[in-house]
Amino acid sequence: MSEEPMLSTHALTAGYGDFQALFGVDFEVRAGEVVALIGANGAGKSTLLRSILGLLSVARDMVRFRGESVGGSKPHAMVRNGIGIVPEGRRLFAGMSIEDNLRVAIDYGRKPQRGENVASLWTIERIYKLFPILRERRDQVVHNLSGGQQQMVAIGRALLTQPMVLLCDEISLGLAPKVIHEIYDVLPMIRQAGTALVLVEQDVSLAQRASDRLYCMLEGRITLTGDSNTMTREAIAEAYFGAN
Ligand code: ATP
Repeated sequence: MSEEPMLSTHALTAGYGDFQALFGVDFEVRAGEVVALIGANGAGKSTLLRSILGLLSVARDMVRFRGESVGGSKPHAMVRNGIGIVPEGRRLFAGMSIEDNLRVAIDYGRKPQRGENVASLWTIERIYKLFPILRERRDQVVHNLSGGQQQMVAIGRALLTQPMVLLCDEISLGLAPKVIHEIYDVLPMIRQAGTALVLVEQDVSLAQRASDRLYCMLEGRITLTGDSNTMTREAIAEAYFGAN
């Protein structure tokens, strides 16, 4: 574990106008890892993702990606660099078909590096293999899909930007348990394909099961980090709600 992480934040502070939402957050993701980020409403999880993506103003050295300080770069530059996002609320083009939503992403993504195996890149065909229902409904307008199917489109669209790390903001939110499992079952395949994952998740058990490492946030600070497998319920509860 001596190599530099693929993505990391360093004493990251960020907020909205005069309101400070994050207080010195140190966070890292290594190549091939699945990292979960949990915490109650308002803990700062989405703000951390937004800060990494350049949607909020942060100092250059507060975010490092693949050996370079990139904090404060524009969001489109982050995506081109290889940081993908499945945003909270999905933000699809509701009036467009599934396939057109997927197609749009291709132009905005990371360009393959010299020597990179082209077969390892995501294609619409590979997205349809991950989520066969999307192939069946490829010409349907996204607006007419179920929430779970829309989430599949959002994940597919993000993968088509060829991310090296994919930030997923509450992909289970508002979905039925069966659908959540359908989506979470696909995550190991995404990881096997070489994409590291950051899962912001409200469901603590799900987060713990799906990840290698877990971070807990409370009031803008990381209160716990460690191996998901060995973390105790008591430690998580204390970090989640704060010690009384
Ligand atoms: P949730 O699960 O509700 O999305 P979260 O952990 O992602 O919670 P954030 O959305 O990052 O939390 O919010 C962190 C803090 O920043 C909260 O106090 C929230 O009220 C505040 N906040 C979030 N977005 C804004 C905004 N656009 N303007 C002002 N304050 C904001």
